[in-house]
Amino acid sequence: MPLLFQCKNMFRKVLSFINNLPRLHFWAIISLFFFLLIVSLIPPSKHGGTIKKELTLPISGSLKGDYAVAEPSTANRDANNQLLPDFSANREVDITISAGDTLSEIFSNESISAAVLQELLEADTEYLRLANLIPGQVVQLLVSPDNQLLSLKVIIDRANTLSFVLKDGVYTSNLEIKEGEWRNSYYQGSVTGSFYVSAKKSGLSASQIQQVSSALSGQFDFNRQLRVGDTFHVLVAKQYIEGAYSFDSEVLAIIIKTHSRNYTAFLNEDGRYYDQKGKGLSKAYRRYPVNGKPRISSRFNPHRLHPITKRVSPHNGTDFAVGVGTNVYATGDGVVLRAGYHPAAGNYIVIKNSRRYTTRFLHLSKILVHKGQRVAIDQLIAKSGNTGRSTGAHLHYEFHVNNKPVDAMKVDLPLSQEVPRNELKDFNARRDLSLREMGEL
Ligand SMILES: [Zn+2]
Repeated sequence: MPLLFQCKNMFRKVLSFINNLPRLHFWAIISLFFFLLIVSLIPPSKHGGTIKKELTLPISGSLKGDYAVAEPSTANRDANNQLLPDFSANREVDITISAGDTLSEIFSNESISAAVLQELLEADTEYLRLANLIPGQVVQLLVSPDNQLLSLKVIIDRANTLSFVLKDGVYTSNLEIKEGEWRNSYYQGSVTGSFYVSAKKSGLSASQIQQVSSALSGQFDFNRQLRVGDTFHVLVAKQYIEGAYSFDSEVLAIIIKTHSRNYTAFLNEDGRYYDQKGKGLSKAYRRYPVNGKPRISSRFNPHRLHPITKRVSPHNGTDFAVGVGTNVYATGDGVVLRAGYHPAAGNYIVIKNSRRYTTRFLHLSKILVHKGQRVAIDQLIAKSGNTGRSTGAHLHYEFHVNNKPVDAMKVDLPLSQEVPRNELKDFNARRDLSLREMGEL
């Protein structure tokens, strides 16, 4: 074959060329050949690539058994330096409520059992803040990979944050309340037309004007006794949370100077007004929210065991065995904080009687007041009923002191018509502070 012949021919030529070379040249060519052969056989990884391998090798070697997962720097350890379970698989859900959003809808979107909402509402009976979400409120959920709700947080407003945490299979609720800062504002003016118009001109709000006139309503007729040129002086405490006015305010001190005499009213810590000498201007609190002394079917009991779950489920109020439609009265002057429906409480009313006292009326058949309305002691506010989670017609009545429920039948109510002797010194000090701020002392 011509190709084989050509190769043989070439080989013969190379051999004869080598044979004809001088000895020194021959060995030089052989040495060069073997040198190139050895260099070409050395693996190329002697340079950059090897450094990488040296760094990864020890780690790959340790990826065994207990150390298979590297521990993040933020891992939590308990007191015995044992690693705590890693909850990073749980998902956090943040929702800003829009019009029409409901918790049951949110839960269904997150595949959380509908029964959980019932448990939460049950845990919310102390606060009654979960039922009505308002657009703009923020809801935060922590949900486990198997769709169990671990915690729920509702940012109700700047002052209030409501949270529920699952612990030992039970949701416990907590309402965090920011007291913020109370600052005083002073308003004054002289009467030109009606008191309302004159007071409005000075900057007082409708609710504050109402507070002024109801504080002095027993001593003074604002429509008949005021004349043009009479002056009014009002000191108002306003709540600020994170620097912004919360629209929560209370009238601390009032002076009306008429042509014939001065009228004064000072707010005591019990939410009632007293004159300069500590004599009560408004009626004292009433013990019962209904007329007569009806039978109590269930007393206040912070340690009550739930009949079914056998867990501690406090009874925060007093139950009066009254038929549906019985008149329910405000037990003290105040303003309606909330009125509405809650699946556990039914139709309910919360009245703020003072910065210290709040009263609640649950399972009503009819609500006769509205949010923001000022109410007076003995005012008809509702008809009792059997709404919400209730096993029979009754009125559930609660009394809270500093946001904590107490026994309404035993609480030391401000029942006397004068500032009690042991509180008089404090009352006088606050009165003088107010008068000084108003430039009257
Ligand atoms: Zn009850």
